[in-house]
Amino acid sequence: MSASKKTKKSPPQHYDVVIIGGGLSGLALSCLLGSVRGLKTACIDRESPEHHLRTDSRTTAISYGSSKIFERAKIWKGLEPLGCPIRDIRILDGDTPVLLQFLSDEVEGRAFGWIFANADLRKAMMQKMAGLKNVSHMAPEQVLGFEEGQDHVKVMLKSGKILDAGLVVGADGRGSFVRDWLDIPVRHWDYGQRAVICNIAHEFPHENRAVENFWPEGPFAILPMNDDENGRHLSSLVFTEHGPKRRSLMRLSEEDFRQAVADKFPASYGRIELACPRQCYPLSLIHAARYIGPRMALVADAAHAIHPVAGQGLNLGYRDINELASLIEQAAVQGRDIGAPDLLQTYQRRRRPDNTAMIAVTDGLVRLFSNNILPVRILRRAGLKAVAKIPPAKRFFMENAMGKAS
Ligand SMILES: Cc1cc2nc3c(=O)[nH]c(=O)nc-3n(C[C@H](O)[C@H](O)[C@H](O)COP(=O)(O)OP(=O)(O)OC[C@H]3O[C@@H](n4cnc5c(N)ncnc54)[C@H](O)[C@@H]3O)c2cc1C
Repeated sequence: MSASKKTKKSPPQHYDVVIIGGGLSGLALSCLLGSVRGLKTACIDRESPEHHLRTDSRTTAISYGSSKIFERAKIWKGLEPLGCPIRDIRILDGDTPVLLQFLSDEVEGRAFGWIFANADLRKAMMQKMAGLKNVSHMAPEQVLGFEEGQDHVKVMLKSGKILDAGLVVGADGRGSFVRDWLDIPVRHWDYGQRAVICNIAHEFPHENRAVENFWPEGPFAILPMNDDENGRHLSSLVFTEHGPKRRSLMRLSEEDFRQAVADKFPASYGRIELACPRQCYPLSLIHAARYIGPRMALVADAAHAIHPVAGQGLNLGYRDINELASLIEQAAVQGRDIGAPDLLQTYQRRRRPDNTAMIAVTDGLVRLFSNNILPVRILRRAGLKAVAKIPPAKRFFMENAMGKAS
């Protein structure tokens, strides 16, 4: 392999791990590897941190399992108060009353997860990295290509720098450059749906309630956030739509959009206002046929990007990161090669079944619920009511929502 463009000559800088992509997954992996003594890590992102903070107003539901990764990176203590715990999950099917409800009290009072502003997660991880001497963050910086050697990979950067790495990790998201470079085929499915997201200020407190309402056009999810500095009650909204772009919610005036949201918002929240500009994300499924190549591994969205219906995309990615970081740490401590084929094979073997199972569950949920055919509607409503009445089944779903099945 060779770089696709000519780069200025400069002496290579050596790193043990070079992470391509400084999104929420690349940053988390950098924080975990930064605590491994003697391991030098670089994290490269094509955009500046300020750009991400300015443009990403999304929130993420962080599961109990992912909170353990932040604990391992020693940032959970500072982070936890910024998240809003979810203590009540309600599931509706269009205009039905609540069909299924999960309460924290049923799982010894533990939160099902926490809703964080992506900006808060990013800032906490950046702050941690700034204090880690063996982690370099290079952003904005772009990868142009790689050159494979016997015991290293050369990483060619747009600035002209060349990095020498024992292992390259592709954490560069659903359109992964690293995956394309490795020529890895993907299973790709476009749902024909878009998620329009926005934070909503509402009159009455949300009482830590998350609502998932399955409408035929796609799920409508309301996730509890902490009050803002002015004491306004906030929730984040994921309003899924389908159909032609010219009829998109993004085309509505602010007032018409507010009204469309208000029409679907439960009355218990009182009056609502938009608390930030809308953003839109097309929804598709991507699963890489393999996660590894010579001295290279894919993690998180670069390996598998799923529909946000269950709020599990990043949580799944964090399970990859936890596994890969553990394997790298063990090898580094024992003085073994961190880019060895057997280490990478182990990573792939341990992560693929879990990812494949979650893809099947989310894909099934989208197909089952984005459907208005009468027999399907009757069956799924009966199914939800049945789960509500069978305690072990209910407990199973609650444990999964907490990310404890990993
Ligand atoms: C509407 C919506 C709601 C969601 N809600 C949840 C939720 O509640 N819970 C949950 O777990 N998940 C959720 N997800 C999924 C979650 O957002 C993603 O799984 C997560 O952002 C993936 O992070 P990542 O770091 O792998 O990829 P990305 O966030 O895509 O980051 C990739 C990074 O790589 C950089 N990059 C790309 N190419 C290059 C290159 N060539 N050189 C250098 N840098 C490069 C990019 O600039 C970017 O910073 C949601 C997704 C959507 C769309």
